[in-house]
Amino acid sequence: MYRVAVIKGDGIGPEVIDAAIEVVNAVTGRISFEYYEGGVETFKRHGVPVLEEDLEEIRKSDAVLFGATTTPFDLPGYRSLILTLRRELGLYANLRVIPDFNDGREIVIVRENSEGLYSGIGSVVEGRAVDVRLITREGAERIARFAAGEALRRGTFLTFVHKANVLIGDRFFRRVVFDVAGEYGVDVKEAIVDSFTIKLVRDPWSHGVILSENLFGDILSDLATVHTSLGVVPSGNYGEDIALFEPVHGSAPDIAGRGIANPIGAILSASMMLDYLGLDGSPVREATRRYVLRGNLTPDMGGTATTGEVTRGIISELIGAIEEELWVEEIRVGRIPTDISRVG
Ligand code: ATP
Repeated sequence: MYRVAVIKGDGIGPEVIDAAIEVVNAVTGRISFEYYEGGVETFKRHGVPVLEEDLEEIRKSDAVLFGATTTPFDLPGYRSLILTLRRELGLYANLRVIPDFNDGREIVIVRENSEGLYSGIGSVVEGRAVDVRLITREGAERIARFAAGEALRRGTFLTFVHKANVLIGDRFFRRVVFDVAGEYGVDVKEAIVDSFTIKLVRDPWSHGVILSENLFGDILSDLATVHTSLGVVPSGNYGEDIALFEPVHGSAPDIAGRGIANPIGAILSASMMLDYLGLDGSPVREATRRYVLRGNLTPDMGGTATTGEVTRGIISELIGAIEEELWVEEIRVGRIPTDISRVG
């Protein structure tokens, strides 16, 4: 059995995570889910976004499934739960996959998640504010390895997006990326971040695995979501020993509790989690795609369906696919003669 820690969060977090768990339970019985609290309410009661003893248990899990939490601007001392988890669990790689259900294409973006301008190193001294854009060899190498591995797994190349014509750090990062990719036998294309934003809008589907440092990756990965509904985009945050999976959207308080949240981002995040655990998430992705092409969708995708209807629709596609496989197998082993197969 695999242990998965679940933090549903607030807003639509619990609605979409319940949907994702239903789908996972329909494909495998090998995961036990353990539930933890976290976010603003935990902070108001205990002064921390997640309890230390819960964090200890979460660290021992095989993976984490996370919904969404609201991060208020005006709560003194509060640090966002997801940022806390990324730091505490050492989640250095962020992988975001933007799907095009019509023809199965994807935009794949790997963002370095622990260094760059978000290093937390900086100061304000005598009217000068400084943020240190930290790129270490260790940090650059591990994210380059992650991205090269992802490109290899997908049978594609890397596009390294940088500003090496201006920034010393990116010149250093660039050399590491080319060295690591060479080691993996992965081709590298490169692009300057400012002009790449235009490519990402006009011609987003042909860049293999896009790799960038923290701030550029943050902006590019949000920009890329314009090609679909925010509600369908999944992501994974990977560390050395554990990974956390979450839909890209936030807690969407405007639609929370109405049963119309799109569960697909959470369901596809769970499919990435299945891959990570070695359980193969591709049937979930295939069932989701088949459902999107012919089913009634939630209002953000122009339909009238509820969260539950989409979830059940995807599960019945999954069950249909499993039955189809069994049927084909029965024909193959001769229990069903081919002449009567598929009749009626
Ligand atoms: P937060 O502060 O938690 O980020 P937010 O509302 O500012 O919340 P998002 O949650 O990302 O940001 O939502 C932005 C918009 O997209 C909202 O109008 C919301 O209704 C819509 N949206 C986000 N996720 C979904 C979803 N899963 N299904 C349908 N609509 C969604």
